[in-house]
Amino acid sequence: MPFADLQLIDPLLRAVRAEGYAEPSPIQSQAIPHVLAGQDLLGCAQTGTGKTAAFALPILQRLAESRLQGARRLRAMVLAPTRELASQIGASFETYGRFTGLRQITIYGGVNQNPQVERLQRGADILVATPGRLIDLLNQGHVRLDTLEVLVLDEADRMLDMGFIHDVRRIIAKLPARRQTLMFSATMPDEIRSLADSILTTPVFVAVTPAATTVDTIEQSIYFVEKGDKPALLEHLLRDVTLDRVLVFTRTKHGANKVVRQLERARVSAEAIHGNKSQSARERALSNFKDGATRVLVATDLAARGIDVDDISHVINYDLPNEPESYVHRIGRTARAGAPGIAYSFCTTDERPYLVDIERLIRLHIPRAAQHPFASQVPLPPPTDLQARGKSAPRPKARAGSSGSNGSRASQPSRRPEGPASSPRRHTSRGGPRRAEEPKRRGA
Ligand code: AMP
Repeated sequence: MPFADLQLIDPLLRAVRAEGYAEPSPIQSQAIPHVLAGQDLLGCAQTGTGKTAAFALPILQRLAESRLQGARRLRAMVLAPTRELASQIGASFETYGRFTGLRQITIYGGVNQNPQVERLQRGADILVATPGRLIDLLNQGHVRLDTLEVLVLDEADRMLDMGFIHDVRRIIAKLPARRQTLMFSATMPDEIRSLADSILTTPVFVAVTPAATTVDTIEQSIYFVEKGDKPALLEHLLRDVTLDRVLVFTRTKHGANKVVRQLERARVSAEAIHGNKSQSARERALSNFKDGATRVLVATDLAARGIDVDDISHVINYDLPNEPESYVHRIGRTARAGAPGIAYSFCTTDERPYLVDIERLIRLHIPRAAQHPFASQVPLPPPTDLQARGKSAPRPKARAGSSGSNGSRASQPSRRPEGPASSPRRHTSRGGPRRAEEPKRRGA
């Protein structure tokens, strides 16, 4: 379906063409007609599916078509959990709205508020904000939200994880009751459903690339390794030049810094991005990574939310996440916009329970790297139910986040038949860790 079939106005079609988008992504073709019609919407989609344009394009259109006389006033607001995500959403509104004459402002914490206040005073149509900074500026009387017509809550599940839900409710209490509300979340735990029930009015539900199918398009493998060998295994994998833009995840900020120091010693260009870095350091690291000056970006889960870099060739889970949903978010950074992606995960003996949780959630048995020089000598535990059956296990109800509608993740069957636990990973055109199949030379 071409974009023109979505009844988008010419200034938006021009912007989309300039971005080189050939056709709408599934979330865009599903959501845009409803948002244009003024309906509330609950979207189950992660970053990487094109969800920003799914809400930004119809919002821009609605504002452009009902342009107001006089001074600009805030008419649409997007709340996002992190500053990275907020600035990417702001940049998307700039990109898609550049022929509309509408103006956006992005505000987030961790930087001096004065330039943001000055911009607010100059006026804008669209505000993109993180909850904390917005509440600060509301309390100081720098923002008025009583003129809002549209609210978007993006990555609502992350808002919850980060403890922002209380702030979000406080903000929503200040908005006009008569408004259009859109809410997006990658997962739908009970708290998110109840938030949706309380802020949305007869919403349309759209769901795309549920967890199991998203991860399905990514080549994944598990490297059993002991903690002390993780640095050597990482260096070993990075000897393969096809790993050209690599996002490495660690559980802690300290761990991220350690990996960067280690890689620098090994002469691999690497930078860390996490909450202890200043905003400007994070932006610099991200832009170096985007333009290829830095080959490896090492991130923690929170900092990585919303990282919008195309062509990430590999995601490496240096530490397995203890929340299985994070695994889905992490590996979703590769394989953007339909491109193939590759994800390697290191797993120590201590982390094996996390692996069980992950495989249960994604309903896939992740292939084990056949052989590698740093393979753990600790014997594998007896196979879990999942491994014994070769693939899927029922997803625990508490996590399933059943949508109860089309695209329900809980009802998705496992999509890829998997081989036994020892099956080697398939190699793709991007190449894989070729040396992973060399004979072991540990202790040599
Ligand atoms: P998002 O999920 O909004 O973070 O978007 C993920 C990436 O997909 C961004 O780099 C967008 O520029 C890109 N994108 C969004 N819509 C389309 C489309 N229709 N065709 C191709 N790329 C797109």
